[in-house]
Amino acid sequence: MFIEYVDFKRPAWDADTLASMLERLQESGYQGFTRELHHVIGRFTTGVGERPLTRTVGGATPFMDVLIPPAQSRARVILHHRAPEMLRVVIAGRFQHEVRMVGTAFKLHLESVLGTRLDDLIVDESGRASLDRFRRDVVPALQLGGNGERTAEIRHPLGAQLLRAMRHQPAVRGRPTVLGSQLATLVPERSADQTRDAMDQLVAEGALERWHIVLCRETGQWLTSTPNADELRKFLALTLECPHCGRRVSDEQMETAYRLGEHVQAYVSDNRWICDLIEAGLRRLGVEAVAVRPGTGPVDGAACYQGTLILFRAKENGVEAADFAQLRDRARQFEAEGWRVSPLLVADRSVPPEGREMGVTVVEGMGTLDVILDQTLRAARDATVETLLPASFRLGTIPLADLLPPDD
Ligand SMILES: [Zn+2]
Repeated sequence: MFIEYVDFKRPAWDADTLASMLERLQESGYQGFTRELHHVIGRFTTGVGERPLTRTVGGATPFMDVLIPPAQSRARVILHHRAPEMLRVVIAGRFQHEVRMVGTAFKLHLESVLGTRLDDLIVDESGRASLDRFRRDVVPALQLGGNGERTAEIRHPLGAQLLRAMRHQPAVRGRPTVLGSQLATLVPERSADQTRDAMDQLVAEGALERWHIVLCRETGQWLTSTPNADELRKFLALTLECPHCGRRVSDEQMETAYRLGEHVQAYVSDNRWICDLIEAGLRRLGVEAVAVRPGTGPVDGAACYQGTLILFRAKENGVEAADFAQLRDRARQFEAEGWRVSPLLVADRSVPPEGREMGVTVVEGMGTLDVILDQTLRAARDATVETLLPASFRLGTIPLADLLPPDD
C-alpha cells in the first residue's frame, strides 16, 4: 500500500462545512461512506430529505469518512477530522503513481468546493516537514554535505576512473600522489595526453592539487615542492646543492605531481561503489532525500522516507562488531531527537552472527540489496499508516488494510 497525506487547517471544520463538502464531492463523482450511511439511515427512518446530512456528519465524533474517487475506483481517500481546525486527508492506493494522481485530482476538487486557495490551508504534506528537518538538521550533523548534495561532482568522463586509480598511489603527506612522468601507468588503455588532459581538468575542478617538484636524480627524494611556478624558478636560480648527491638543484629532475584533494577522499573510498548502489536503489524506489558521503564516519549515508530516517553503513571486506555498535549508537541519538530510525548495514559478503546488533537490518551481498531496501521502505510506509490515523475506524471498525481491494 502507498499513501500520501495532507493536513488542512482552517478556523473550523464544522458539520455544515463538512456536509456541504461531501455533497459537492459526491456531485464530482466521489462515493462516500457517510453518504451511504445517510441513505441507510433514511431507509429505516423518515426520508433522507427530512434528515439533513449535517446530522449524520455531526453524529460521528470524531468525524471520519472513506471516499472512492471517480477515476480510480481501487484507491481510497480517507478524511479524518482530527482537531477542530484540522482535517487530515490520507490517500491510499496500490501504486505510487496512482496515489499521486488521486491526490492531485482530489486537491483540485476540494479547491473548487471550498472556493479558497488550498496552499493557504496546507500545514503539512506527506512528511514535507520531516524532509525539511532532514536537510536542515540530519545532513549537517552527519557531515553528509550541504542539502543532501554530492560532495564531489566529477564531470570529465575519465575523471572518476582516474581518481579511483589514484587510490593505489603512494601517499605524500597522507594523500595519494602521482608523478607526471608516471601518468601513463594510471589508466594504461589511455594515451598519456588523454590522461594529462583529464588530470588538468580535475585540477581545475579542485579534485586534485598540482605541485611543481624537484627530485634528486640519484635517490628520487623530493628536494622541494610548490604549487607556484614562479617560486620554483626562484628556487632553481639559487646556488643550492642537493644534500644527497651534491648536484646543483637546477641540474636535478623537475616534475609535476598530482595529489588527491582533501574533499574527494570520500569519492575514492573503498565503499563508494556500495554507497552508489544504495543511493541508486533508494532513488529507484521513490526516495527523494538521500545524502551520501562514503568512508568518513560511522554512517556513510542517510535517507528520509515518509518520516522515517534511514541510516546506512556500507562495508567492503568484512564487518566488525564496532561497525554495528557505532551505527546503533547513532540511530539511538536520532531516536532521542524524535526520529523513527531504520539503521541498515550493507556488506558485500555474509556477516558472522556474533557481534550483530539487534535492531540493525543487515544486507549480506549486493544481490539482496534491492529486496531489503524495498522491505525497509514498506515498513516505513506501514509505520506511517499507524501514526496517521487512529488505530480503528469508528465507522464500523474497518481495519485500514481492508480498505483496498486485493490485487487480481
Ligand atoms: Zn641529488
